Amino acid sequence: MSVGSLPAGRQAIRDSTDFSQNKTMAKKIYGIVGHPVSHSLSPAMQNAAFKALGMDAEYQIFDITPEDLEDFLKGIAEREISGLNVTIPHKIKAKDYIERYGSLDENAKRLGAVNTIKVIDGTLEGYNTDGPGFYRSLVEDLKFEPEGRNVLVLGAGGASMAIIMYLGNGPKEIAVMDIDDKKCEALKDHFKIYYDEKRLDIVRREELKEALEKAELLINATPVGMKKDDPSPIDAIFLRPGLYVYDLVYNQPMTRLMKDAKERKVHAVAGTGMLLYQGTIAFEIWTGQKAPVAVMRRALKKGIG
Ligand code: NAP
Repeated sequence: MSVGSLPAGRQAIRDSTDFSQNKTMAKKIYGIVGHPVSHSLSPAMQNAAFKALGMDAEYQIFDITPEDLEDFLKGIAEREISGLNVTIPHKIKAKDYIERYGSLDENAKRLGAVNTIKVIDGTLEGYNTDGPGFYRSLVEDLKFEPEGRNVLVLGAGGASMAIIMYLGNGPKEIAVMDIDDKKCEALKDHFKIYYDEKRLDIVRREELKEALEKAELLINATPVGMKKDDPSPIDAIFLRPGLYVYDLVYNQPMTRLMKDAKERKVHAVAGTGMLLYQGTIAFEIWTGQKAPVAVMRRALKKGIG
């Protein structure tokens, strides 16, 4: 689909950016680009923030296929879009585009992925707020300071990568385990460009017990828990007092891992905080204003149900 031919749902976006209006008076348009993206909780969260601050702005959904992404990004200025979140499957392709035609912040550069775009005079700035969002939630919600501690991450996909790249050399050691060893190897390879590779340890399945015993913080960055009846990614016997658990899953009211942790009085939080803070940080990048965190949290919780 070319940028010129908008499906009916998105025609409303073009209508709301009526180019004949006085530009200084025009409503600011923000949004999320992904595919599929209709399930996103970001519109509820960001629109609640605009409303709370009395801003004439609207956050829209842009469902764009990978083939159409480059044309879409080229047309951002014409559409008068001021800022975007970028989600699956576009984070790496958006980084590649902005690397050529705009500028990237250090997080986006190191990670090789963009989740936030700010448009200034038609030029794109790419950011990644996933790592910073996780970090803020880790410290504020879970009350865990990772510096000098042992961290174990389950899963070596996109979310794991964002977290590990942001934690960097802070922890004493980061151990990572994935059912696909190749993903761990790729992550380690990427990590060593920027950090001390001795601090990142790949854990094989048979070494998981030992790694769990050593860990002070366990992060679930696998999709296990996203479905209602999913098991926990680890056996509950490893949830000992003193361990901290961060479960990135946010689409379930309570995962098996969270239930097990609660029953054993282990400190644990779900991924809602990461989702919230990646959004509040994006809001602040776009608007230069302090995000109304409480309002955004409420909207998010309502969206999750
Ligand atoms: P992803 O790219 O698919 O990566 C997940 C990785 O975990 C895959 O390599 C997967 O292997 C592996 N895996 C699956 N089961 C495993 C197990 N039992 N033990 C070890 N590794 C296992 O997914 P993602 O985008 O990184 O997302 C991961 C999780 O984080 C999801 O639950 C997602 O909802 C959550 N998330 C939360 C936030 C937030 O803001 N809270 C943001 C992003 C993601 P296979 O591919 O072979 O299955």
